[in-house]
Amino acid sequence: QWIYLNGDFVRKHEAKISVYDHGFLYGDGVFEGIRVYEGNVFRLQEHLDRLYNSAKSIMLSIPHSKEEMKQLVVKTLQKNQLSNAYIRLVISRGVGNLGLDPASCAAPQVIIIAEELALFPKELYESGLEIVTVATRRNRPDVLSPKVKSLNYLNNILVKIEASLAGVSEALMLNDQGYVAEGSADNVFIVKGTELITPPGYVGALEGITRNAIIEFAKDLGYTVKEEPFTRHDVYVADEVFLTGTAAEVIAVVKVDGRVIGEGKPGEETKKLLEAFRERVVIEGEK
Ligand code: PLP
Repeated sequence: QWIYLNGDFVRKHEAKISVYDHGFLYGDGVFEGIRVYEGNVFRLQEHLDRLYNSAKSIMLSIPHSKEEMKQLVVKTLQKNQLSNAYIRLVISRGVGNLGLDPASCAAPQVIIIAEELALFPKELYESGLEIVTVATRRNRPDVLSPKVKSLNYLNNILVKIEASLAGVSEALMLNDQGYVAEGSADNVFIVKGTELITPPGYVGALEGITRNAIIEFAKDLGYTVKEEPFTRHDVYVADEVFLTGTAAEVIAVVKVDGRVIGEGKPGEETKKLLEAFRERVVIEGEK
């Protein structure tokens, strides 16, 4: 496996960075997780737009144009001969001294990892997920916008820890006002009849590329999609609940905080949306 590291392709075991890198020391940097379907990088432009916006927000200047970055992503895939893959693009602030000030960092580091897909087990999609809500809150948009996909993922890691302490594999975070924000690395939707509802960005969620694709695909299929704040109660009494994300795609949730959702198995609308999603991601690449 070849890793792109600051201009060179190096072997996985040789892909190393300094302990003085501020990405390592402070989580100072930004990243993207991207999916490749049959050789087509899914919505690369959207991922790069989000990456560059995240970087701009934290005053990190990426040393490549978006066009160059696109080429680097494609080259990394070719070098690894992958057509179905998961790509991790990381830009860290770079090597500096032990102080927080990014001014000590010489240059950002650019890392691209492309790996074989580690798909979630099929059973998970057939049975659906049991999840909980946790005490960890999504950070307020006026502190550090949840739209910034930064390397500082402690909130999300705490969500994972709380989930596994509760014996489940995923959990939902609320915002500081108690509205449902998102999962540890995925967005949330509730279904009521043929209406889909997902929290708007201002509630405190990353603007997921998968979320936006599902909104688009669902509208094409005739669903009404609303971006509205909702509470845990709304989740408990929804007909269906599902999560979306680059890795998970669309996955049904069948129990939340012990409350059975709908009939306790993946709902019809969720199944339809997953099917549509899987078809559309391949069709997009053929265009
Ligand atoms: N929310 C968070 C916090 C995430 O890290 C991710 C994953 O990237 C998502 C949501 C889902 O976003 P996407 O669909 O772009 O992968």
